[in-house]
Amino acid sequence: MEPPTSGRDFSVRTTPKKRLSEQLPPTSRTLPSLPIELPQPDLSYWCEGNVGIPGVHRLTAALPGPHVAITALMHGNEYAGAIVLADLLRRGFVPRRGTLSLIFLNLAAFARFSPQNPIMSRFVDEDMNRLWDTPPAGSASHSSEQARVRQLLPYIETIDRLLDLHSMLWPADPLMLAGPSEKGVSLAASIGMPPLIVADGGHRAGPRLIDMTHFTSPHSAAQACLLEAGQHWTWAALKTTQDTVRQFLSVSEIDKASEHSEEPLTIADVTHRITAHTGHFRFIHPFASGTVIPARGTLIAQDGPDEIRTPYDHCLLVMPNFRTARNHTAVRLARIRS
Ligand SMILES: [Zn+2]
Repeated sequence: MEPPTSGRDFSVRTTPKKRLSEQLPPTSRTLPSLPIELPQPDLSYWCEGNVGIPGVHRLTAALPGPHVAITALMHGNEYAGAIVLADLLRRGFVPRRGTLSLIFLNLAAFARFSPQNPIMSRFVDEDMNRLWDTPPAGSASHSSEQARVRQLLPYIETIDRLLDLHSMLWPADPLMLAGPSEKGVSLAASIGMPPLIVADGGHRAGPRLIDMTHFTSPHSAAQACLLEAGQHWTWAALKTTQDTVRQFLSVSEIDKASEHSEEPLTIADVTHRITAHTGHFRFIHPFASGTVIPARGTLIAQDGPDEIRTPYDHCLLVMPNFRTARNHTAVRLARIRS
């Protein structure tokens, strides 16, 4: 667990007098059922791009305007977003003003997708969404993902407003991750869907695309947020992605105005990131992402001898991971803004 990023400093990790691990119900440590409802799209026509960088498509309007971008396939097996981008390209979409870039990020990983083992094509060498910052001087790493990030960074730094499309392994309602800056929250709120917006400080393992200084610095007007559209490969995730992209293009004045969602928004700030300290992290219940635990001090998980309890009332659980390995994030805890 990391120290809270805001609010009072609670310790949520306690050692119980009596171990509860034997009493815990069997948890979902095995993989969820993985229905592959969505056929894998054929992206061969879109791999080359039109700006000299593979997978990058730049569509320009006659009227001036901001540089708006949508990225998909950060994780090679999350292809609902790629289906939506390919559809815009196939339809010959033309922005009303400014520039729209549609970017397929990790085509090398996507090329390895196999319905028999759909988890394996998340990346080739390492998670691409932990690498988005200036690489350290003299960096000796030559992973497929680092090379791709280096290739894309100068282009990414010309973007004014970005939506990064993802989906989730575990069944969950969709949410928008707004990153660490209020600019991300205001972008997510202007899109207006999904109705849950989570402001968070990212992953300790490295910066995500939406965490780049370019998007988070108070000295820049650029904004970014990240859609988690629901469970991978489901029609529901594709529908959420389509609706959110349509709304993003509309509020960015790239496409004609569309009806705005009237659903009230919930905005929550991640206060704690719970990292498994042992190889025996278990939730006491298969909580869905977005579950709100009413009372402070409620036991939610057991990590070897430690109990994990909610540090405040109305604590929101963000994307619990039921196969947490040691030193991996098991869940994030968020406080709902009133
Ligand atoms: Zn992802």
